[in-house]
Order: sequence, then structure tokens, then C-alpha cells
Amino acid sequence: MQNEVKPKAAVAIIGAGLAGLSCANRLQTLGFQVQVYEKSRGPSGRMSTRHGESWSVDHGAQYFTARDPAFIEILNTWIEAGVVAKWQPRLSVYEGGQWRESNSSERRYVGVPAMNSPGQFLAKNISIEFNQTIDKIYQQNGKWLLHSLENGDITQSFDYLVLAIPTPQSSALAKLVDHSTEATCSSVNMQGCWTVMARFSEKISMPFDAAFINNEIISWISRNNSKPGRTGQETWTIHANPQWSQQWIELDQDEASRLILESAKKLGLNCQNAEISIHRWRYASGAINTEMGCILNKDTNLGLCGDWLNGGRVEGAWLSGYQLASAIHISATFNP
Ligand SMILES: Cc1cc2nc3c(=O)[nH]c(=O)nc-3n(C[C@H](O)[C@H](O)[C@H](O)COP(=O)(O)OP(=O)(O)OC[C@H]3O[C@@H](n4cnc5c(N)ncnc54)[C@H](O)[C@@H]3O)c2cc1C
Repeated sequence: MQNEVKPKAAVAIIGAGLAGLSCANRLQTLGFQVQVYEKSRGPSGRMSTRHGESWSVDHGAQYFTARDPAFIEILNTWIEAGVVAKWQPRLSVYEGGQWRESNSSERRYVGVPAMNSPGQFLAKNISIEFNQTIDKIYQQNGKWLLHSLENGDITQSFDYLVLAIPTPQSSALAKLVDHSTEATCSSVNMQGCWTVMARFSEKISMPFDAAFINNEIISWISRNNSKPGRTGQETWTIHANPQWSQQWIELDQDEASRLILESAKKLGLNCQNAEISIHRWRYASGAINTEMGCILNKDTNLGLCGDWLNGGRVEGAWLSGYQLASAIHISATFNP
């Protein structure tokens, strides 16, 4: 099957998160010519890590799980390559004003030495242009053309175009070219997330490495250094809950930080002597109700993938990109 794509169809992928990278790898293996455009400086999207001198902290996805056989297969290659390992935190739950140990037996995995490691691994053999925000897409003579905010018109034209970006961003691009796809994108609400990162000069004593918090401003606390392969300063990640974050998404950063740290202190994590940074995820979580996996419009050769089409998590994002690549391969093979 691999040599049936003749001549090799050219595919542009917008977004180098896990969905875009998974799609790019599979398409390349299937013989397509792939070019990825990414607005940030590096790959991995929301599986991200912030670095400083002698510290790092995962401030997006905290861990992931694996259930689908295809994802378990790729996970095993990441483990073998040393870019992912199992994480076994002392895990607590705060509920109804009470603490208890979590009885979850879920297997949790993290990137090693940082959450963005599997993304960097997947990006190694892919052609990616960073610092390219695609702000316009259009079709001419059956080919896709792109415009970048930073560099203007992109000279190459493409047979297929993949949007591997969160739904509000997909919607903004798709509305120029494909109304039914735009309608699907607009039907999904994504929620933001305020994330506070706290750096301590010494290890602090807490009875857990990570905790799920219910009915407070905060929904998650974790000690980054409890994950495998982490060295350097003691760092903690604190996520505000999605509803609170979305309600207060336009709040001043200092005020958001103050309220989140106040909530952390109430729960026993006193960050008074820590160095604090804050990040606002405008589109952190949310997914379509009926899981579609991915979308491919065979009339226009426009494809969409991403976590929002497949359950809203890391595993779903990878599978979505993989499924879209298969759909494009079938379409290119039977309707060349
Ligand atoms: C705070 C937080 C906590 C989370 N916790 C977990 C967790 O514990 N477990 C879990 O499984 N999942 C978690 N997730 C969700 C997980 O991170 C995502 O499901 C997954 O990373 C999404 O991958 P993706 O490729 O679909 O999208 P993204 O990772 O968002 O990738 C999209 C990429 O497209 C780029 N982009 C966007 N617009 C453009 C444009 N116009 N031009 C060029 N590039 C563009 C972006 O910069 C980004 O790199 C969390 C997410 C957040 C934010």
C-alpha cells in the first residue's frame, strides 16, 4: 500500500501538538510529502514544559493514560527510547473538606525528562517551520494555499490541508472556506485554565506528590520533581479548575495568582517563599460530545484532527492525528 500514492501528495499540517505530529509521522511513513507549520518556538503544544536556569516545570498536561492498542504500541516505543516513563505519585484527593488517599490504580505516564519530550521525539524527522502563525487558508485550482502572519504568503501549494489546532482556532480558519466544518468547530466550547508554577529553594514537606481537589478554585496540585527524570529546583504546578478559570479568564494575572495561591495555602501548600509564575491557557480543555475521531472533507481535501474531536486528552489527540492520516491515505489512494 505504501507506494500507491503517486505522485506523492503534498500535505500541509497546521499545528505541531501531539495530533499534528502523529498525523505527520504516519503520513510521511505512508509516502506523503509533509510540511508542518507551528506558531510557537517548539513542538508539543499543550504537552508543554517551562524551563529556567536549573528548573523546569510541566505547566500543561500533567500525565497521560493509554488504553487503545495503537496508542499502547507507540507508547512502548517512547518508553524504549527513554522519552516516556511511568509516574507513580503519592496521590491524594480533597473532597467535602476532607483529605483521603486516592485508591485509583490507573497507570500514569509522563514525558522524560519533561512533558514535551515525546513531542520533540516525534518532531525529529518531520519538516516543521516554527514561528509561523497561519492566519489565512484558501484554495486555488484545487490546491491549498496558506498565509502566515509573520512571513506573508507561503509559496508552496498543497493537495491536502490539515488543521491540528484547538477548535476555536480551527473555526477561525475554516470559516473562510468550509461552512459545515466551521459549524462543527463552533459547536464545541473549550475552557481555559489558569496555571500557577511555584519554585522553592528547598524541598518542601507535603503528604502527597499530587492531588485532585474538588469544589475549590484549584483542581490539581503536583510536585514536578516527583516525576521520573526531573532534576533541579523543587517546582509545583497548581491548576485552577476549568469553570473558575473560564469565568475569570480575563482577570489580571496578579489577581488570578493571588486567588489561586490563597486557595493553595488553605489546602496546606504555602507558597509564600516561592518564586511564582503564572500562565493562562486560553483553550485548555473541552471536546465534542459525539466523538468523531477526525474530520476529512473529501470535496475540499481539508482535514481536522485534535484532542477536541476525540475525548479531549493526550491519547485522544494522538489517535485523532493517526486516524486522519489513514483517512487521507485511503482518499488519496482511491480518489487520486
Ligand atoms: C492545563 C492543562 C492540563 C492538561 N492536563 C492533561 C492531563 O493531565 N492528561 C491528558 O491526557 N491531557 C491533559 N491536557 C490536555 C492535553 O494537553 C491535550 O489533549 C493535548 O496535548 C492536545 O494535543 P493537540 O495536538 O490536539 O493540540 P495542541 O497541543 O493544542 O496543539 C496545537 C498546536 O497548534 C499550534 N497552533 C494553534 N494555532 C495555530 C496557527 N494558527 N498556526 C500555527 N500553529 C498553530 C499551537 O501552538 C499548538 O502547538 C491538559 C491540557 C492543559 C492545557
